[in-house]
Amino acid sequence: MWKNRHLLGIAHLTRDEILELLDAAVRWFDLPRDGTGSPRVLQGRTVVNLFFESSTRTRTSFEVAGKRLGADVVNVSPQTSSVTKGETLLDTVRNLEALRADAIVLRHASSGAPEFVARHTMAAIVNGGDGAHEHPTQALLDAFTLRRRKQRIEGLVVAICGDILHSRVARSNALLLGALGAEVRLCGPRTLMPRDAEALGPTVRVFGRIEDAVDGADAVMMLRVQNERLAGAMIASTREYARTFGLNARVLARAKPDAIVMHPGPINRGVEIDPRIADSDRSVILDQVEAGVAVRMAVLEKVIQAADVHRAGIRATA
Ligand code: ASP
Repeated sequence: MWKNRHLLGIAHLTRDEILELLDAAVRWFDLPRDGTGSPRVLQGRTVVNLFFESSTRTRTSFEVAGKRLGADVVNVSPQTSSVTKGETLLDTVRNLEALRADAIVLRHASSGAPEFVARHTMAAIVNGGDGAHEHPTQALLDAFTLRRRKQRIEGLVVAICGDILHSRVARSNALLLGALGAEVRLCGPRTLMPRDAEALGPTVRVFGRIEDAVDGADAVMMLRVQNERLAGAMIASTREYARTFGLNARVLARAKPDAIVMHPGPINRGVEIDPRIADSDRSVILDQVEAGVAVRMAVLEKVIQAADVHRAGIRATA
């Protein structure tokens, strides 16, 4: 039974809680496309997307997820909010709470920002990506996609290649896949590999060559070089990077014949991934996006229900 009124990171979840979310998402994923049977379980509730970093998929996906459940979804952009007038993150959140936001999806460049805010609000806080720390709903939708394609997660070999150092996606995935018993192979240039990468889980191993990481893998997840976190300065050149760490047909041939190719997006065609691979039938990149809506429906429903229980508990003891 789900009890968390926040989703701050995979590190806070048990194996059973991860499975509970994935199972709940299946129900939303299987809803008919024509809108019939749409369960308006969040009717009258308000979800606020508060994104301090750029986003296409995550923000839109939370918006669609909330709306499919009947919630009102409001997007707040820092560029046009009073953040530009010097308002703090906490004051911004407290004001959104005063407007009766039930859930706030927060994306922020600072690791730990959602955790900090969560300590000071009654609203449910969902981490939409914090710095290089965690991106829990991305890892959940990746697991959802993997499970759909491979019917299991335990025992799978998943290679995650690219800018591991700056990747909240890699961290959340290493934690989640480890918790569900998959082998995780992290691969990238030494300059873009955290020193403590293997500490991310007992099933995590680090590789310096993409060919070795991909060898016999069930899934290959490619990551973008995060230039906004100055990663571009940590590689020799884009062309050299593409040659050494890019996924192309030659490298993919090392994986299992039925291996799938994943990417959280945005993809940089011709850098970390050959466009022909990204567009091939091995790629599940757009399936990941589709899964994201169902996963976020499950998350929003559960955290808002848990926040209601929490609020009722406080009222009862007051
Ligand atoms: N969209 C993902 C994230 O926000 C991956 C990326 O930006 O490269 O972390």
